[in-house]
Amino acid sequence: MTSPENQDAMLPTPEDRTPENAQTENPKTSAAVDASTAGSTPADARSLSPDDADLSGIRGWLFDLDGVLTPTAMVHMHAWSRLFTPYLEQHGAEPYTESDYFAYIDGKPRYDGVRSLLESRGISIPEGDVTDAPDDDTVHGLGNRKNEAFNQTLAEEGVEAYPASVAFLDAVIASGCRVAVVSSSKNAEPVLAAAGIDDRFEVIVDGLVAARDGIRGKPAPDTFEHAAELLGLPTTACAVVEDAESGVRAGAEGDFGLVVGVDRGVGRDALRELGADVIVDELDELLPAVHRAAAATDGDASAANDRTTASPTPEPEPREDHA
Ligand SMILES: [Mg+2]
Repeated sequence: MTSPENQDAMLPTPEDRTPENAQTENPKTSAAVDASTAGSTPADARSLSPDDADLSGIRGWLFDLDGVLTPTAMVHMHAWSRLFTPYLEQHGAEPYTESDYFAYIDGKPRYDGVRSLLESRGISIPEGDVTDAPDDDTVHGLGNRKNEAFNQTLAEEGVEAYPASVAFLDAVIASGCRVAVVSSSKNAEPVLAAAGIDDRFEVIVDGLVAARDGIRGKPAPDTFEHAAELLGLPTTACAVVEDAESGVRAGAEGDFGLVVGVDRGVGRDALRELGADVIVDELDELLPAVHRAAAATDGDASAANDRTTASPTPEPEPREDHA
């Protein structure tokens, strides 16, 4: 992802990104700082920090929804628990725990989640089909029961998008990038509407689209690849943003320009091993990299016009033109 010609656009590490240093930094000292601090975090050797991320080749952002843009993972987790806690008890199986959610369910299409969890307990029931009633003791019936619990909770409590994610979303849109939502959920549109961010997205590839068009769900990369195609961009110009094991795996499996792992509970080590290139706790950690890439693009345009020598003290790049 980090190509040699783009190294000059890198920012120093956070401790060096003070107003004073911003005036005097140059690529050589930045590179030296990066090299010296890299040794202090050997566990991160394979993953770039947000400050090192080079986004100059990224023209599209493919956002997972639950857990990345909205804290709906909590709503889903509660709904799954409401489904499986009594169900496993009735079947005399090992009790349902939060770790079951991360291991068998998180990020997968709903019926796949049901199937995986039941397999983990050695429970075999008929598949049924999508028209099964929520009371039916089938894989699809249980999935529909879970969906009912989810919609009840969403209606009762609503959902608010992560502020840092909205700030990042608006920044990449302002920088000229295209954006899409790629979610396994069949409730992506009501969730985006409840969070008030549905107007930001021109492309939504969710569980309904995947089912309708016969596209394999995560951990296959297909839904992300489909979104890139709908945006009219090659996958290599798109970044995948994910918080779930299955989603990061999908991103790593495809030929994407970047895979950003948002750590909402999976853990940094796990995200790294699954193939995340950059790992953040909140997406606004990547704002400097977005501004840097936008400034580099602007700089290239200026240079093409008339500038032939670089300024020895480049201006810091405020780019707050997004509303
Ligand atoms: Mg997610």
